[in-house]
Amino acid sequence: MLSQRISLLSESITVAISSLAKELKAQGKDILSFSAGEPDFDTPEAVKNAAIQAIKSGFSKYTAVSGTPEVLKAVADKLLRDNTLSYKPSDIIINVGAKHSLFSLFEVLLNSGDEVIIPSPYWVTYPELVGYCGGKSVFLSTNDTNTFKITPKQLKEAITPKTRIFVLNNPSNPTGSLYSKEELTALADVLRGTDILVIADEIYEKLLFDGLKFTSFASLNADAFERTITVNGLSKAAAMPGWRFGYIATPKQEIITALKKLQSQSVSNVTSIVQKAAIPALDGTIDKDIEMMRATFEKRRDLAASALNRIEGISVVKPFGAFYLFVNINNICEDSMLFCKELLEYAGVAVVPGVGFGMDGYFRFSYATDENSIIKGIKRIEDFIKQNYAK
Ligand code: PMP
Ligand code: GLU
Repeated sequence: MLSQRISLLSESITVAISSLAKELKAQGKDILSFSAGEPDFDTPEAVKNAAIQAIKSGFSKYTAVSGTPEVLKAVADKLLRDNTLSYKPSDIIINVGAKHSLFSLFEVLLNSGDEVIIPSPYWVTYPELVGYCGGKSVFLSTNDTNTFKITPKQLKEAITPKTRIFVLNNPSNPTGSLYSKEELTALADVLRGTDILVIADEIYEKLLFDGLKFTSFASLNADAFERTITVNGLSKAAAMPGWRFGYIATPKQEIITALKKLQSQSVSNVTSIVQKAAIPALDGTIDKDIEMMRATFEKRRDLAASALNRIEGISVVKPFGAFYLFVNINNICEDSMLFCKELLEYAGVAVVPGVGFGMDGYFRFSYATDENSIIKGIKRIEDFIKQNYAK
């Protein structure tokens, strides 16, 4: 009954676990969830007001496929202001969340057998989409001893005549690791003289800690600008995951034209109201809200990382970005799926098994939740480990 294509795709484990945790909570179970990749903050008032205004003024017609001229200009201005990137509005397309941006990109770029280089551990969705679109993922492994970052040598050795795309998620989901400008430049240098495209997923760019600054891959130099497709969205920093707003920017017009063709025959355009609501999220109006959330995440990172590191048998590298900790449980249990299932069943704590991100022996702990829950949840993890894995 079903297409062969759909059998290539697995359900997203991050979405599945956070939905399960929400369902168990709704049934009245005492669940503390650290599985969601979404901020617990409410969407800033200015964004809500812009949406209400759009509804009241009857902004309810179809828009241009890529987005309204107003929102395309707002994204172009944002990329110039925040990232020193000079894109024209016609270099940009708005999608239904960055996940949709990535889906659309792999759909228009990949032919059967094309190779896509992905650092591992990776966000669950990349290899799924690559496989669905006929490509082959080539993983570059990292671990906590190298703060989950690949080296230029690894990248160089992975390149074959079939390599088409290199995906770099900086800062990273699930590890929170962050590449410096120098590290990015060294990776970009490896790609010089090739026709490999870079998909730079920069959705966590604003969630950085310890005073560190973000560098966009496309801003490194002219060569990097030409080969990079910048992907970003409003789900994380602007606390708008349910609104569904993502975008792609590339100077390569043939890519934008292909994306528009696909979008015109699928979703047509991003919800008109959301396009209006995105303006204050892009133009600096909510910068104070973003800073408040960022600073809160930083405090929670410190709290959660030290509390987890005090538990005997497990360890975590303190990351510089995003809102995740990738916790090493290899010393107590190599089977992360089993560990996470039992932790949920017996301790009422939901976290995502590392195996879903391509790395067993770890779990992902999202600290996008309040401090009290973090303290309570980590105590439950500690008790669970003491009871079940004490040596
Ligand atoms: N990229 C990464 C690395 C993510 O963690 C997410 C989270 N969902 C996305 C893209 C997609 O976000 P969204 O579709 O909500 O914009
Ligand atoms: N990106 C988030 C996560 O990793 C949200 C869920 C998803 O889209 O995967 O949990």
